[in-house]
Amino acid sequence: MNINLKTTKFAAMSIQENYNAIKSQLPYGVELVAVSKTHPVSAIQEVYGLGQRVFGENKVQEVTEKYPLLPKDIRWHLIGHLQTNKVKYIAGFIDTIQSVDSEKLIREINKEAAKNNRTINVLLQVKIAEEESKSGLEISEARELFEQYLNGEFKNICITGLMGMATFTEDQDQIREEFLTLKKLFDELNQLKKLETLSMGMSDDFPMAIECGANSIRIGSAIFGRRDYSQ
Ligand SMILES: *Cc1c(COP(=O)(O)O)cnc(C)c1O
Repeated sequence: MNINLKTTKFAAMSIQENYNAIKSQLPYGVELVAVSKTHPVSAIQEVYGLGQRVFGENKVQEVTEKYPLLPKDIRWHLIGHLQTNKVKYIAGFIDTIQSVDSEKLIREINKEAAKNNRTINVLLQVKIAEEESKSGLEISEARELFEQYLNGEFKNICITGLMGMATFTEDQDQIREEFLTLKKLFDELNQLKKLETLSMGMSDDFPMAIECGANSIRIGSAIFGRRDYSQ
């Protein structure tokens, strides 16, 4: 497939123009998670009005504040590091937790999902970047957790795929290599049990992520404009 995508780097356009520009570039079958962190409810309503239903937030407090104010058919994804003691605040409504980076966390999500009589979708976040600041499971740890899951642990969890973030660098070869590392693991685990989601790619690197096999991308600033502070 020949994909020719351009990143929308400049937010001089309106939210609507940004959103339509991104949507029109996405190949069929690639899901868009609109990352609304730091942006107000009014901006989310605007993007919702354009048809978007999947939104990503990185903080428990922020998503629990926004959730009651917005339509109930929004599927909320948590994409930021999650502390085990905060799982209980989102377990009743979160659709997918993309940032599962420890066994302790997956156990806690499973427990809280059971209490709420529901199944929570999770992605295993795998560390593919070289930066220490980016969290995630080592590849071997992701394999082990997936095996436990296949053995019937975590009854109230559905592992739907993998998530990863590439290093923040200009080096396109490095970014490609990191994304391909995650794609390889995805293909391997997908042989054991069908997975739906390979979540990789953000505003600056989503065209490369899609080239490398991503079928879900997490886009914030290219839709909503730049955030006031970097998170
Ligand atoms: C903020 C964030 C994004 C979106 O970043 P943009 O560069 O604004 O598109 C994607 N994924 C994660 C995990 C994030 O924290």
